[in-house]
Amino acid sequence: MKRAPRTPSEKDQPVRVKVNSEQCQGHLVCAFKAAELFDVDDRGYAVTPDRPLAGEAEVAMARDAANFCPERAIELVP
Ligand code: SF4
Repeated sequence: MKRAPRTPSEKDQPVRVKVNSEQCQGHLVCAFKAAELFDVDDRGYAVTPDRPLAGEAEVAMARDAANFCPERAIELVP
């Protein structure tokens, strides 16, 4: 039996993690939760890599950091 071609789903779409610099207050809970994804700029605020997240493990880490961010400054975006 032939399989139907796979259609792109939301799960297949590349996702990036972004920090809203106007909301970020520099608590760095994000860097504690996901050091691989969050760095600190020279003003002490969080920065993220300018690339799509690599796989479900990174997406889960980014979601976890977003859930713990006290300022709700972290978003996962297409
Ligand atoms: S936890 Fe949220 S507010 Fe704090 S540094 Fe990270 S992104 Fe910014």
